[in-house]
Amino acid sequence: MPESYSKALLQGKCPQCRKGNMFTYSPANLSRFMVMNETCPHCGVRLEPEPGFYQGAMYVGYGITVACIAVIGVLLYLLWDPSEWTYVGISIAVMLLIAPLNYRYSRIIYLYLFGGIKYDSRYRD
Ligand SMILES: [Zn+2]
Repeated sequence: MPESYSKALLQGKCPQCRKGNMFTYSPANLSRFMVMNETCPHCGVRLEPEPGFYQGAMYVGYGITVACIAVIGVLLYLLWDPSEWTYVGISIAVMLLIAPLNYRYSRIIYLYLFGGIKYDSRYRD
């Protein structure tokens, strides 16, 4: 059964076959969460289309960070309305906790949007 675009993106699958993992280890593995496969283990497409490709992913990561801090700020204001330094402390703590996910999703989203790799229905099973 073919994976949907959004499900494959959320699971960090290769954009061409939607089956092979982009990353080698789990995001919970804090010493190796950033290790990416050079090629897809299922279809063999290169997951780094050109050298330095993922430098642009930091703009996606910045967007994710700003969106998360905005959501955290609104939630804290509605639930508790703490002092300014509590906003800052909680925002920094949450962003450090989700840093592995932010790193991975910024690369996944960047590859899906700008990698030029299209889904190939030959890999459907
Ligand atoms: Zn693949």
